[in-house]
Amino acid sequence: MKQVVVGLDIGGTNTAIGIVDREGNVLYEKIPQIPTPQKKENPDARLDISDALCHDFIARITSEIRIAIAHIKKSILDIEVVGIGIGAPYANYYDGTIGITANLPFVTVVPLTALIQAELPEISIVKVTNDANAAALGELIYGGGVGMRNFVMITLGTGLGSGIIVNGDLVYGHDGLAGELGHVTVVPDGRQCGCGSKGHLETYCSATGITRTVFELLAQTNDTESPLAKISYNELTSKMVYEAALQKDPLALEVFNFTGEILGRSLADTVNCLSPEAIFLFGGPVAAGEILFKPTRESLERYVLPFYRNKIKILPSQLKLGSAAIVGASALVWKELDKLK
Ligand SMILES: [Zn+2]
Repeated sequence: MKQVVVGLDIGGTNTAIGIVDREGNVLYEKIPQIPTPQKKENPDARLDISDALCHDFIARITSEIRIAIAHIKKSILDIEVVGIGIGAPYANYYDGTIGITANLPFVTVVPLTALIQAELPEISIVKVTNDANAAALGELIYGGGVGMRNFVMITLGTGLGSGIIVNGDLVYGHDGLAGELGHVTVVPDGRQCGCGSKGHLETYCSATGITRTVFELLAQTNDTESPLAKISYNELTSKMVYEAALQKDPLALEVFNFTGEILGRSLADTVNCLSPEAIFLFGGPVAAGEILFKPTRESLERYVLPFYRNKIKILPSQLKLGSAAIVGASALVWKELDKLK
């Protein structure tokens, strides 16, 4: 009998649902994705609206999961759906909840896995963690981390997420929320972070952080020659920055050197704490390749303890950008099954 898992990723804008096999192949994907409830739908943070949005969202998710399972059972006769793995913001692996976060309109803690399991009692394993932790498990189960027991996954997107694998398992920590490398302080009183604090790694080295650096450098250098000087703040993407860097634009190259310097320094701290075999980078900016990896590696080597030098691999993630969220979420269930063996 072929075993499959439902992978669910609750993103900032959309929620993705798919069915994934043990090899990481996506056998079914719900297209278009489901809209994730937005903060602006509950601007006054009312409890009744929060409850209604949550109820509708759970109903929609569980209905789409039923459709996905029915679809896959039609095309593959001898099949078992062993669980549902979920990646979600501010998710707690231990109690299966989503905490109150700036990205969602819910004003109370949402008991996500319990609500889903109540609708789908035939599914015995329903697990949730945050998207970066799910990505780390995805790398471990299907990606470049197969066969490794200690590595760190860094996801570079709107924010900077991380998942830490130690001794072959994800580190959840005392309260289930470990691995927030994006919120280590790299510049005291530096850039404003979405978490409310200042100077955190994600404000400098996430995809958004890279674009913030462009404008900081433009202001400092008054470089009007750079193609990036002609793009407005809201339009600029990290992709445009690396495209300019590929054209050898000095400002864009300086942006990546600055990003790599800060990222490498933070990763050196991480290496000194954890002694990983490798660090995987995932997300849009990874497409910049050596333009990002070289300054990051050089900075890491400068700051790590001497006995780690030239040993730590910084590698691009082997997960596919398009399906990584679903695939990463599904890995939670395979990992759970491995633990039960
Ligand atoms: Zn922060």
